[in-house]
Amino acid sequence: MPYSGRCECGQVSFVVAGKPLGTRQCWCRQCQRLAGGGPTNNAIFPTEAVTVTGTLRSAQWQAASGNTLTFSFCPDCGTQIYGQSSARMHLKTLRIGAIDQPHDLRPTMAIWTDDAPAWAMIDPALERWPGQPPAPAPVET
Ligand SMILES: [Zn+2]
Ligand SMILES: [Zn+2]
Repeated sequence: MPYSGRCECGQVSFVVAGKPLGTRQCWCRQCQRLAGGGPTNNAIFPTEAVTVTGTLRSAQWQAASGNTLTFSFCPDCGTQIYGQSSARMHLKTLRIGAIDQPHDLRPTMAIWTDDAPAWAMIDPALERWPGQPPAPAPVET
């Protein structure tokens, strides 16, 4: 079953075909600002797998990795939908929180854990990267 999701106000919705290439919880400082102190939780899909309905606005910043990150959000309610790295424009990193429940997505990797606050509770079952991990491998066919 394809994944679907929307922003909080419903102006933006999306459907996603197929399974993610990877799922990650990011503790970089920029994600902490976006998420109100905690990490962002993300599922990475091929760009062409994601179909968006509605109008997104985008903003860009220099990511901790040195790449330019473009993140897209609903201009009406501010809900983040996905990010894209200049190094990997063939991938879209969807915010798991915007995906409709129920779904089977959960983070499998915690990244930029060196930047996590001292009070962070990071699941010890997650694969851990102190900084930027390698890009996810292409889906095997
Ligand atoms: Zn909205
Ligand atoms: Zn981050």
